[in-house]
Amino acid sequence: MTKPRVLFLYTGGTLGMLRRDPGPLAPSWVAEDILPFVRGLEVEVEVHAEVLYNLDSSDIGPDHWERMAEGVVRWLPEFSGVVVLHGTDTMAWSASALSYMLRGLDRPVVFTGAQRPIAYVRTDARSNLIHAALCAAMDIPEVAIYFGRRLYRGNRTTKVSIQSYEAFESPIFRPLVEMGVAIRHTATPLPAPTVPLRVVNGFERNVAVVQVVPGAGPAIIDAAVHTGARGIVIRGFGAGNVPQKGWPEAIARATAAGVGVVVHSQCLRGAVDLSAYEGGRAALDAGAMGTGAMTLEAATVKLMWLLGQGLGGEWLKAAFHEDVAGEGSADRAED
Ligand code: ASP
Repeated sequence: MTKPRVLFLYTGGTLGMLRRDPGPLAPSWVAEDILPFVRGLEVEVEVHAEVLYNLDSSDIGPDHWERMAEGVVRWLPEFSGVVVLHGTDTMAWSASALSYMLRGLDRPVVFTGAQRPIAYVRTDARSNLIHAALCAAMDIPEVAIYFGRRLYRGNRTTKVSIQSYEAFESPIFRPLVEMGVAIRHTATPLPAPTVPLRVVNGFERNVAVVQVVPGAGPAIIDAAVHTGARGIVIRGFGAGNVPQKGWPEAIARATAAGVGVVVHSQCLRGAVDLSAYEGGRAALDAGAMGTGAMTLEAATVKLMWLLGQGLGGEWLKAAFHEDVAGEGSADRAED
């Protein structure tokens, strides 16, 4: 029987870093030499590797997302799936971006990385890479993140720990796969696509995330508009509430200026509902959109992507509320 073929697409991160003596962790030569560290994996899958770039993920942005997506589209037809090796800091952002950009995805694109470099004895990189490669050979046609012991839908995931080997959580949507002694498929993957694979590029870079602080006025919203923001994500309280004094008026000024305004929550779990309280209702009436069950990363990147497609006004609202890649669908299973 022929073995599944999996491509490792290297973009950087702690997984391939070495410590300078003295100095912080920095990208290293390990990039070109990952395969010897996962010896034995070849029994299960045929692995190939390509290096796209070698960056700390704090330096990754929309240009890199586009190169990642183009790399996936170029190579995916030859493989059962792709594993994107990526720093953990912005992995959930990149996975969200690719979930929107890769239209017609018919096989897995699995992001993974590590909290400790692969060359360290007590690394989590080997286990993450091996399991991610096995997940990339599964029939899961979506962008996912493998980390710790689980495969998550990428655009439902957020980095929650700087220390733990379980660095990621999917706060609202249950994991797709749990890798214990047995492999358990715990949620239904996205359906197979009906259109061929292609990349939809284009991101608006000028999007601001603003956190509401008790007692603070909304001058920060006007400041964002004046400095050229085309989109604003407000991290409100609870179900998506903003203070009623001044904030709805500032949101109305921003939307009247053609800025897309989205209200998210400072809570990790539960879905934003702008009609639940007066503060959210006022934001809604002022033209804001609620993020529903989306993560901050998924909602912000979605706004960047839709603005990048040239959408505004009611078109933007309709598209923002439409599910693109399972990022905030009706399945609100709590963990
Ligand atoms: N700063 C690193 C990065 O995101 C952290 C990591 O990979 O875990 O590239």
